[in-house]
Amino acid sequence: MIQADIKNFTLEEIENILIKTGEKPYRAKQIFHWLYQKGSLSFKEMSDISEKTRNELEQNFHISFPLIHSVFTSIDGTKKFVFKLQDNNFIETVLIPSHDRNTICISTQVGCKYGCKFCASGKRFIRDLTSAEMINQVIYPLFSLKTQINNIVVMGMGEPFDNFNNLIKFIKILNSKYGINIGARKIVVSTCGIIPGIKQFSKIGLQVRLSISFHATNNKIRNLLMPVNKKYPLEALIKTCQDYIQNTGRQITIEYILIKNINDTIDDAIKLSHIAKQLKASINLIPYQHIQGKEMYAPTKESIKKFTDIILNNHVRFTIRNSKGSEIQAACGQLAGKL
Ligand code: SF4
Repeated sequence: MIQADIKNFTLEEIENILIKTGEKPYRAKQIFHWLYQKGSLSFKEMSDISEKTRNELEQNFHISFPLIHSVFTSIDGTKKFVFKLQDNNFIETVLIPSHDRNTICISTQVGCKYGCKFCASGKRFIRDLTSAEMINQVIYPLFSLKTQINNIVVMGMGEPFDNFNNLIKFIKILNSKYGINIGARKIVVSTCGIIPGIKQFSKIGLQVRLSISFHATNNKIRNLLMPVNKKYPLEALIKTCQDYIQNTGRQITIEYILIKNINDTIDDAIKLSHIAKQLKASINLIPYQHIQGKEMYAPTKESIKKFTDIILNNHVRFTIRNSKGSEIQAACGQLAGKL
């Protein structure tokens, strides 16, 4: 019998499983505590659970653990972890330290179907990750490296809304005070603009932050950069964002990768400011990092300055995310997981 990975179950699901076996549901909190606050790898260690329940758990479940294949460390301190999965696929996770907090960037799929032209992950799609495989990307730095994790960004390999159910389970385990206990506002999910996913996400009732990758201000360039735009064009995406903001009362962030001579013109800056004002959104500008084999280049310092001056003059909040870890291929759009 193939035993299920216990890390694929939310607290509520484990409670229901325990109820069916005649065990008290609060035991699920103890199991979560062992798994996510002590990093337990065996049911035998769970000393406050009865032997009978431990034996039953052992018969029906296993506890997966992250299998690290390699670690690359950048001169700026960014670390890229390459994990080997049970089926010999590889995924990448990035730990970005800053002076007062550590952020971890999580992958949700092996590869990606969406083929954005500036992204190494979109070369091909292999499969969705389970929620356990997502959780283990956090477990490794937490327990093996004893690193505190303050923020989680779901911006690694894959489109999170293309793996919606596992993503939500992952978030629930992260956010549970008996689980990894990361506040919802410290979790950011980034989508390339999957409209049904944004609609579904507005209904889950978690205060998780949402980032939406625009990367262009007209359909012609967005079609070129992000083939997903042919299915979900800009006008429909903007309308969906407006509905999301209205229905949830939450703000969104616009992600915009600046690529030399493609989407870094003055006209783009004006149009992007207009979209951000319409959505009352802040903008996260990401200067493109060159990927071998791609005919796209980093914007010049002058074009970034001109672009940001226009945004500033339009009174729109923005940040410039200087992608860290580019020399170890850990920057935005560079994760390929040996595809
Ligand atoms: S940017 Fe995101 S959605 Fe686009 S190919 Fe890369 S991983 Fe997929």
